[in-house]
Amino acid sequence: MNPDVRKSATDPAASTGSPAFTLPALPYVQDALEPYVSARTTGFHYGKHHKGYIDNLNKLVGGTVSAGLPLESIIAATVGRPDEAAIFNNAAQAWNHAFYWRSLRPKGGGEPPAALKKKIEASFGTLDAFKKEWATAATTQFGSGWAWLVLDGDKLKVVKTGNADVPLTTGLKPLLTIDVWEHAYYLDYQNRRADYVNAVLDKLINWEFAAENLG
Ligand code: FE
Repeated sequence: MNPDVRKSATDPAASTGSPAFTLPALPYVQDALEPYVSARTTGFHYGKHHKGYIDNLNKLVGGTVSAGLPLESIIAATVGRPDEAAIFNNAAQAWNHAFYWRSLRPKGGGEPPAALKKKIEASFGTLDAFKKEWATAATTQFGSGWAWLVLDGDKLKVVKTGNADVPLTTGLKPLLTIDVWEHAYYLDYQNRRADYVNAVLDKLINWEFAAENLG
């Protein structure tokens, strides 16, 4: 990160005295995604993993000028920089998880709102064709990562990213995501990632959130 973006932790003007990054509230209660994602999984995923990224980020940039920046700015300033990898990874994972929780909802799935459905059909042919492409991306992401529905110019696309990577950094606008790190599903589905992905698509996906992001 540039010196003007991240000042020394000893700079008294940069110190805020309190953690700059806080864990955003879950948009629903911890057992709201059952039976498709258990309260136990959500408890660990949100309370340990997501919180861990926030805590790490505070340790890494707390008390510096970066601590006051939006996550998007930190992500943009550190992407592709090996010397800033720890900050990038924790900032991106903090952003990805907040976006993931909002990509799901109890009683989700079903049909997208009309305008979004039309856009999906224009880009993929049919809703089923989109679902198939999304499920393929989510199940074939090797190791840890994410599958996304994004807006690329005027067209919707499915992309996958590894580890903490986020499509924001390549000029794509995320509309929805699914976390395919093992911590997202292993307690409930063990190695059956495809069952988790299909359950999310059919029962939990928050089309209204995607429609909001589409604008
Ligand atoms: Fe996760």
